[in-house]
Amino acid sequence: MTIQIESTRLDQRVDELIRAQVAKTPGGVAVICGNESLTYAQLEARYEALAARLRGLGVHRGSLVGVHLDRSIDMLVAVIAIMRAGGAYVPPDPEFPAERLAYMVQDSGLDLVITHSWLANAAPVGTYRKLEIDKLETQAGTSAPAATNGAAPTSADLIYVLYTSGSTGKPKGVALEHRNVVNFLLSMQHEPGLKPADRLLAVTTLSFDIAGLELFLPLVTGASLVIGGRDEAADGVRLRELVEKHSITVMQATPTTWRLLIEAGWQGTSTFKALCGGEALPGDLARTLTTLCAELWNMYGPTETAIWSTCFRVPAGGAPILIGKPIANTGIYILDRSRRPVPTGIPGELYIAGAGVARGYLNRPELTSERFVDDPFSKAFGGRMYRTGDMGRYLPDGNLEFRARADNQVKVRGFRVELGEVESALTDHPRVKQAIGRVIELRPGDARLVAYVLADGEAPAAGELRDHLRTRLPQYMIPQHFIGVDAFPLTPNGKVDRAQLPHPQDAGT
Ligand code: AMP
Repeated sequence: MTIQIESTRLDQRVDELIRAQVAKTPGGVAVICGNESLTYAQLEARYEALAARLRGLGVHRGSLVGVHLDRSIDMLVAVIAIMRAGGAYVPPDPEFPAERLAYMVQDSGLDLVITHSWLANAAPVGTYRKLEIDKLETQAGTSAPAATNGAAPTSADLIYVLYTSGSTGKPKGVALEHRNVVNFLLSMQHEPGLKPADRLLAVTTLSFDIAGLELFLPLVTGASLVIGGRDEAADGVRLRELVEKHSITVMQATPTTWRLLIEAGWQGTSTFKALCGGEALPGDLARTLTTLCAELWNMYGPTETAIWSTCFRVPAGGAPILIGKPIANTGIYILDRSRRPVPTGIPGELYIAGAGVARGYLNRPELTSERFVDDPFSKAFGGRMYRTGDMGRYLPDGNLEFRARADNQVKVRGFRVELGEVESALTDHPRVKQAIGRVIELRPGDARLVAYVLADGEAPAAGELRDHLRTRLPQYMIPQHFIGVDAFPLTPNGKVDRAQLPHPQDAGT
């Protein structure tokens, strides 16, 4: 089924779609987190009060505002308030190391960060103003939208800037507009589909773009959102308790989180909708989930084209797992190295065009023009397409099959990692001459990041390398294994032959 969404609907902003639901169901439960819950009207009062405060602090159309908050209702209130004030949010995740937080603040030029007072010790280094959301007086708020600073916001304004791993050593900020996300949300309402009676559990960190589905899809639909804490999302038993306690009907997660839930003994329900994405969905996991749930969907897409660009309802019974068809107003081309379309059935690189294509990388025009290129195939899709680096092919029935990456980007427990960034952080160590990263799956579902290190003199111990990386990279980018080598194996044309590098089990790590 091709979902039709009129282009005029893309003139809206995400905060306007949420306000429309407040008007429809003011007394409905909008959000639950821990022991706290808010109706749609209460949520609106909270975010409008904060938006007024933000405007008072000078936030206007195009302002970038940092969200350095624990997972909480405050976090939701903050992101919507930033939108209401015309700004866009940037989430320096409290879990990230100081160096990365400082880089994000400086790179995006943040001059205001919303935070919790108890996170003061973990605050990013930089010169910006801090707004401690828990110290604000609870203001009555008003449901009427206050005037914005300057011209009225539009759907072509930025909604968020998210940092993803960068192959040359520094993360890059992907800048998305409201209309990118609005198209996505309206398409998701149809497929996989969400209804006002649904209760969706949000488990994803705000710095991963798929959190956008979790936080906004329920609120633009009139459904209820349950925000899981960081610890609950990482612990299968607590996650299961949360799913059962709140009678959750929809959850989106990476394969790792689905495995945690299943290993904790979750029995599923006959009405449950499971969305799995972020990396390839393994066959064994798909078979289990199709027996536990009413529906299992494989979701595919990069941050640069707004969350998910295709989806596929996985049939029960072990049929091939595809990534499906493009979502509304989205075109996917499979092209060869000369950017010519290849026939159905032949693999090539996926290029994505359409309403989801981001504005580009923040302050990185060269990188933007390298990855966001002219679309010579269709005028209908807005003239630009994003080069994904993913290899795949079209099948005769119009479904897409994902094959592999064409470069050194990998996924570790659902997180996107450029091996180049890990390698570059390792070679910052004074005794590391060269480093190579690789992902090796020891057992199904157990992917390990392995670093091969060529040292200058005596090789640093694994603990020392780990400490060195901890100050530079988020936890998920730190290799589980460090293997010292005297030389790297080379291919006949002189490139490092990653496939010939020793296996961690053979290397005894
Ligand atoms: P991110 O920007 O973190 O969402 O990562 C996007 C990349 O993750 C894609 O370009 C793919 O390489 C990979 N990916 C996401 N979803 C899937 C999926 N369902 N199957 C295979 N790979 C996926």
